[in-house]
Amino acid sequence: MTFFLPPQGLIYRPPLSDFGFGVNVEVDCIICVSCKRGIPVNMLRSHSKKYHPGRNLISGEEIAVVQLNGSLRSSESEKYTQPPGQKPVDGLGVLRGFVCPVSVAGSQICSAVFLARTTFDRHLSVHSCRSKPDAASCACHVQTLFSHGGLQEYFSVDTSRSQPDPPPHLSLR
Ligand SMILES: [Zn+2]
Ligand SMILES: [Zn+2]
Repeated sequence: MTFFLPPQGLIYRPPLSDFGFGVNVEVDCIICVSCKRGIPVNMLRSHSKKYHPGRNLISGEEIAVVQLNGSLRSSESEKYTQPPGQKPVDGLGVLRGFVCPVSVAGSQICSAVFLARTTFDRHLSVHSCRSKPDAASCACHVQTLFSHGGLQEYFSVDTSRSQPDPPPHLSLR
């Protein structure tokens, strides 16, 4: 007998699961099961239209019902981030990025996170350290809850604390 243990924070239930979405209840965010991105609750329809043509569209009434229970993140919410060294947010894709290792004030580490090497290199110039760290040694796994429209906010994650992938019982389009 095979059964799947869903990732801890993720739940799948109608009406959202009927349209390819789950909810991560730890971070109060709707996640698209197909592309593993967080989707602002006010952008569910536009996300499906743009990235999943052919997928049934959730109705405005259904979104209103979903919004009744809880404070699901929208494009207006404060950006989500988390301290380094934590497990990845369940359901979100894990990307390769860079974390800044430069010491600032006392023993504090800057820890700013970047997806692109170019923005990381540019960031390093804000520090007045004599020897710049080698970018390759700063590579790390990163995530962002939302990935479009200026809503990105990257944070580093420890993938050794990962949960298993979502159960493949939803039809993905
Ligand atoms: Zn999607
Ligand atoms: Zn830095």
